[in-house]
Amino acid sequence: MASLLRGAIWRLFPRKGYCSWGTQGKLSQGFVEALKALVGSPHVSTAAAVREQHGHDESMHRCQPPDAVVWPQNVEQVSQLAALCYGHGVPIIPFGTGTGVEGGVCAVQGGVCINLTHMDRILELNPDDFSAVVEPGVTHKALNAHLRDSGLWFPVDPGADASLCGMVATGASGTNAVRYGTMRDNVLNLEVVLPDGRLLHTAGPGRYFRKSAAGYNLTGLFVGSEGTLGLITAATLRLHPAPEAMVAATCAFPSIQAAVDSTIHILQAAVPVARIEFLDDVMMDACNRYSKLNCCVAPTLFLEFHGSEQALAEQVQRTEEITQHNGASHFSWAKNAEERSRLWVARHNAWYAALSLRPGCKGYSTDVCVPISRLPEILVQTKEDLKASGLTGTITGHVGDGNFHCILLVDPEDPEELLRVKAFAEQLGRRALALHGTCTGEHGIGLGKRQLLQEEVGAVGMETMRQLKAMLDPRGLMNPGKVL
Ligand SMILES: Cc1cc2nc3c(=O)[nH]c(=O)nc-3n(C[C@H](O)[C@H](O)[C@H](O)COP(=O)(O)OP(=O)(O)OC[C@H]3O[C@@H](n4cnc5c(N)ncnc54)[C@H](O)[C@@H]3O)c2cc1C
Repeated sequence: MASLLRGAIWRLFPRKGYCSWGTQGKLSQGFVEALKALVGSPHVSTAAAVREQHGHDESMHRCQPPDAVVWPQNVEQVSQLAALCYGHGVPIIPFGTGTGVEGGVCAVQGGVCINLTHMDRILELNPDDFSAVVEPGVTHKALNAHLRDSGLWFPVDPGADASLCGMVATGASGTNAVRYGTMRDNVLNLEVVLPDGRLLHTAGPGRYFRKSAAGYNLTGLFVGSEGTLGLITAATLRLHPAPEAMVAATCAFPSIQAAVDSTIHILQAAVPVARIEFLDDVMMDACNRYSKLNCCVAPTLFLEFHGSEQALAEQVQRTEEITQHNGASHFSWAKNAEERSRLWVARHNAWYAALSLRPGCKGYSTDVCVPISRLPEILVQTKEDLKASGLTGTITGHVGDGNFHCILLVDPEDPEELLRVKAFAEQLGRRALALHGTCTGEHGIGLGKRQLLQEEVGAVGMETMRQLKAMLDPRGLMNPGKVL
């Protein structure tokens, strides 16, 4: 049926004269009419303001607008749009909620931005099997609101209210990953529209099993693919039982070393901590001001524990012993939901708190992740480098996973400062690689880390990735210029 319709559209709007290859600026009127015929006129825009809005994410990467933006309403339309664009050499850029921080939605070669936010239904909820199927426009907050009275929740929580399929595409994680894993661990199946319009179910249509040894892991291939292999049109996600009780805490330390040592000791003691987040003194100061907290301005851990009341008491006692042994002070517990929420809202707003340190500037977030034993040395060294660089920046991190961010503030109109930020980020990336880590724990490669990716995976790794890309996208039209 889909291919019949595709054929009819191509006959209606013959290919010749649709657009130039790698559109960059111009789509022919005929092509725009073909888009409208597929999804309806109200769901296509070529207005400058709309294109501009879709040409950038939250990062400092320069805005590069697509030539048109379309809002498909269902998977059939996505498939037909992909086939139309692919058949005419038009780049395709998937768009979730635009909260990415690596320039993933920039239309570097022009093309059609496919905004998936109108497809926002929760298609299935299987409480007994702890799974749900969502369309690409559903955000993690919307899913959790839907799950509120079900006794279940979805724990992956990037600071922004990102779309769940955007989170699949970037391999996102957040503050709960130390206990519940990242998107890689929480996706059971994906429905993907391949660049030429064919529909793939990565684990087989309708399946939502917990484990499988059936062939290659196609689901894993698309987690972190950053829109370069296909459009994710539905995700089957793993849900978790909502914790019986929760308690959060903050504690301040005399040094970064002491905070990170405590993290390692808590994990070594097998305390099943649900969240363990580090904020340096500059970040803590910014959060105090931005979110009206009253925490000590010092290297700080934000912690959270989940479990039964009895289990919580044990976890809390053990953690207090460990942190006190490492010189912690100002231990403060948040037991009721309101206090806890205030703390985590502040943590999730750390990006905006950092931006408020230099109004008018853009933020650039580094994202290295190292084996946990190497965390103290890289964090201490990074703090020294940051001071020496003269840049304004904060450090915050999901330290339980060995992952941390320097949020660097940069004046986008100052080319010299932009270069210094880039140099700092590259040096930090290389230091992580030297310590057996990765240049990106959760934000992805996007535009800015392609060189580091090459250094990370090596020549054969890159060649294998290029071959996979060429097999799925032989014309190189899916989100070109990203990752590889
Ligand atoms: C304040 C703030 C805090 C953040 N905190 C975190 C954090 O703690 N952890 C973390 O991991 N990230 C964090 N992020 C980054 C961001 O929220 C994540 O990268 C998120 O996964 C992006 O989702 P999105 O829907 O906004 O994707 P977009 O920005 O729209 O797109 C990101 C990439 O995914 C592709 N894409 C989007 N949707 C699809 C789809 N359906 N199919 C195929 N490709 C698609 C795009 O083409 C692009 O390459 C934060 C961002 C902000 C602004």
